[in-house]
Amino acid sequence: MRRIIRRKKSGYALGFLLCIGGLLLLAAILWKAWPAVSASDDVFSALTSYLWTEQFGFGFGAELKLMHLTWIGSAAFALGILVLAFSRQVFSVYAGENVVLQCSYCRNNWKASRGKGLAECPHCHQFVEPRVVKTK
Ligand SMILES: [Zn+2]
Repeated sequence: MRRIIRRKKSGYALGFLLCIGGLLLLAAILWKAWPAVSASDDVFSALTSYLWTEQFGFGFGAELKLMHLTWIGSAAFALGILVLAFSRQVFSVYAGENVVLQCSYCRNNWKASRGKGLAECPHCHQFVEPRVVKTK
């Protein structure tokens, strides 16, 4: 159980990181491009041609066109959204299946996830078919 929660949290962290990283990259590109294209009559096509002509150097010979960086930023953002959506789904499935079961042998209760026909009672260690007492 604890493992699933941690995975959900790291999924959220990864999703947020990708979203924010992608947005920052897109904002930085727009920030750099805006002074060159804002005076144009057709800002969108001016921006597109600017992104295709301007290059971004990494300092060691590697260069990327700004358009490629725009794609990378958009892809990171989209991936972040997907990861966030997936993490949320994992969490809601986990929360929805949390139930309190009662042992048919010793009548003690314990929390578990639904879907098991036969379970080992943590109190008397008998394999029983537990009764669902409470659904969260
Ligand atoms: Zn029991």
